[in-house]
Amino acid sequence: MATTEHDYYDVLGVGRAASEQEIKSAFRGLARELHPDVSDDPNADERFKQVVEAYEVLSKSETRQLYDRFGHAGLRSGGFRPTPFDFGSLADIFSAFFGDDVFGVATGPRRTRGADLAAEVEIELEEAAEGVSRAVPFQVAELCETCAGDGVAPGKSPRTCQRCNGAGRLEQVTRTALGEFVRSQACPECAGAGRIIDDPCQECEGAGRVLAERKLQIEIPAGIHDGQRIRHSGEGHAGALGGQAGDVYVLVRINPHPQFVREGDDIYSTVNLSMTDAALGKRVKVPTLGGEEELEFVAGTQPGEVRRLRGLGMPVLQGFGRGDHRVLVNVAVPRHLNDEQRQLLEDFAKTADERTYQPDEGFFEKLKSAFR
Ligand SMILES: [Zn+2]
Ligand SMILES: [Zn+2]
Repeated sequence: MATTEHDYYDVLGVGRAASEQEIKSAFRGLARELHPDVSDDPNADERFKQVVEAYEVLSKSETRQLYDRFGHAGLRSGGFRPTPFDFGSLADIFSAFFGDDVFGVATGPRRTRGADLAAEVEIELEEAAEGVSRAVPFQVAELCETCAGDGVAPGKSPRTCQRCNGAGRLEQVTRTALGEFVRSQACPECAGAGRIIDDPCQECEGAGRVLAERKLQIEIPAGIHDGQRIRHSGEGHAGALGGQAGDVYVLVRINPHPQFVREGDDIYSTVNLSMTDAALGKRVKVPTLGGEEELEFVAGTQPGEVRRLRGLGMPVLQGFGRGDHRVLVNVAVPRHLNDEQRQLLEDFAKTADERTYQPDEGFFEKLKSAFR
């Protein structure tokens, strides 16, 4: 059967002296990991097959001794054949080992988990900086009260499905070296429900669920970023036949701020200095998330200068500290001059020489740092 022969101990990742219990738990761990319903490893099927085969051999003292002494050849001469199975039945083999409850799949009439639901909330940047609690309305499918979720009109009863006798699943027993495997599949007659409803509930048209308006109080943590989602488990659509409800994912949108631009945990803003303030120097209050900060701009402040306010940016989400706030200087040049002002500027220009505009040493460095 097996074309490539792997060392069974390696396959299970146990030592040659492993106890029965160790082998069993190694197998369980691998089987859970490689289960075709769960694993996204493209080779999961093949690996799962090897793991089952290795377990078949090592879990029985007879075949284990044979393998320990004579290897794969010993097994073949001893008449051992690995369990033949097809990929489609892997899930069933798995259930045969562990029972159907391992992945929350109930036996009999199928309970299904409700669908997830998406909601959206818009907040302001200041709220993102502080953290905020918001009531988010959404529509959710919930249990129909008229029929208590079973989809049957009040006073009527469903009838038991004849094909599966109400089990919802059809079983097929296969004998293998490991014992009996019970393979099962959903009954096609009743779609796994085990019962057939002739008189559906009028309220929910037999679905057992109705749409309802709900509100969820969402705690939005300080430092959240635009586009992040917050999950509330079990608040989504109700499951079928009393199955677990789905989750709600709330997408957080942060409205653009009129003065601040956020980049990561940093905030950027601009300050406008008039030409004269920039030339003469001035103390100016600039807005930050935490309130106004007074900044001193010395005489000769240049447009494009960047002032860094350490730790005045956004708080780090679920972390410590805050980003920085950077203030970019814009110098406003007069657009409309009256005669007197024009005269004053002309007089000024006559007195200005090269030294008037000579940059400080290191100006170029500052310029570079502004552009990083
Ligand atoms: Zn109903
Ligand atoms: Zn049935």
